[in-house]
Formats: sequence, structure tokens, C-alpha cells
Amino acid sequence: MDAPLAIVWSRHLPEGAEPSTVTVSRDSAGRWFVCMLVEEKISPLAPVEQTVGLDAGITALATLSTGEKIVNPRHERRDRRKLARAQRKLASKAKGSNNRAKARQVVARIHARIADRRRDFLHKVTTRLVRENQVIAVEDLTVGNMIKNRSLARAISDAAWRDLRGMLEYKAAWYGRTVIAVDRWFPSSKLCSVCGAMQEGMPLNVRTWQCACGASHDRDMNAASNILAAGLAES
Ligand SMILES: [Zn+2]
Repeated sequence: MDAPLAIVWSRHLPEGAEPSTVTVSRDSAGRWFVCMLVEEKISPLAPVEQTVGLDAGITALATLSTGEKIVNPRHERRDRRKLARAQRKLASKAKGSNNRAKARQVVARIHARIADRRRDFLHKVTTRLVRENQVIAVEDLTVGNMIKNRSLARAISDAAWRDLRGMLEYKAAWYGRTVIAVDRWFPSSKLCSVCGAMQEGMPLNVRTWQCACGASHDRDMNAASNILAAGLAES
């Protein structure tokens, strides 16, 4: 007789919910998923005064207009090193061998763990942002940005940013909040968020700068403040 499988619930089923569809699937890491579709009534949250702007980055996934930096969790770098090691091991195994199949499983499991943890992290961040803020202004990054810079770090942060945006948008819709995308040509980095003066240039290596008006800026926080102002002006 087969032993029952260990089950991990990703979240509790809502009280009294009857699943209308149940889907069973298996990922490349060999894990089984049972997905239940239920209808749930979500009530909007009470309105709040606070608003926030988000500037997308690489070292920090996002910088908020409040100055807070949302950095990728520390375990991600460790997991990526493990993944690289497992991939090297896989490449060294003879094709068609049992060891190769095992090594492939290890790679798939690490991939799956990275994806799970990242999703989990993004869910926590977006839920908090939506709870705390009535309006969230974000940069409207498009595919064009990604093609300009093909580094791995850039690709990873762009993927995370897309996921973050998507989650923000549907959660905002659930809870009665607003997400505003600000035009990507808007010069958010070059504008002083205090006096509105436009700087001539703002090379990427400049992380902090001082405006002629006397204001000193963290590059990303200043950009986030400008994104918020532009977003609020649009709405
Ligand atoms: Zn200024």
C-alpha cells in the first residue's frame, strides 16, 4: 500500500469555501501540486492617507519615496551559488546515466526553491505596500529597458519587478487602492524633488548628489519622490 504524501498548505482554505475546480500537477522538481479554485468575497480596506512612489533598481529591488529600500532576501545569493554548483555537477555527468538524472533533479529542486522563496517575498512586500498606501506610483519599465542591459543581475531584477508590479496591481484592485504607472521617459533621476530644477546629466554611478537649492539627495529616493509626485499629478 502506498503511504500518504506529506501535504504543505500554501494558505488555509477560506471558512466554508467549496472548491469548484481541483487541479493536480507536478513540476520539474518532482513535486506534486493540488490547486483548488474557490470563490471568495474580498472587502476593500478602509482608505488611508499615505501614498508612496517606487523606483526600480538592481541592488535594491525598489527604493520607496520614504527612503526605505526593498532589497532581495539574502538567501537568494546563497541559493544561486548552490544552483551554479549543481549545474556544473550536472554538466559533468555522462548522458543517459542514472547520476545525470539525479543531478538534474537536484538542479530542478534548487530552481523551484528560488522561485518559491522569491514569490513568497514579493507577496509579503506587495501586501504590505497595498495595506499601507492608498496610491502607489511606479515606474513604467518596459521591455526596451531590459534589452539595453543584458546582465544577469538586470534580468533577475526585471523579472522580479514585473512580478511585483503585477501583484501590486491585482491586490490594489482587490483592496480599493490605486496603482499609477508613470511614463518611463519621465526624467525622475535628473529632477530635484525639492525645487524642481533639472540637472544636466545624472550618470549611473552618482548615488548621492546635491542640488543648487541646497537639498542633498539619495539618487533613488529622489527618483521615487518624483515618481510619486508625477503619479499624483496624473490621478
Ligand atoms: Zn533643488
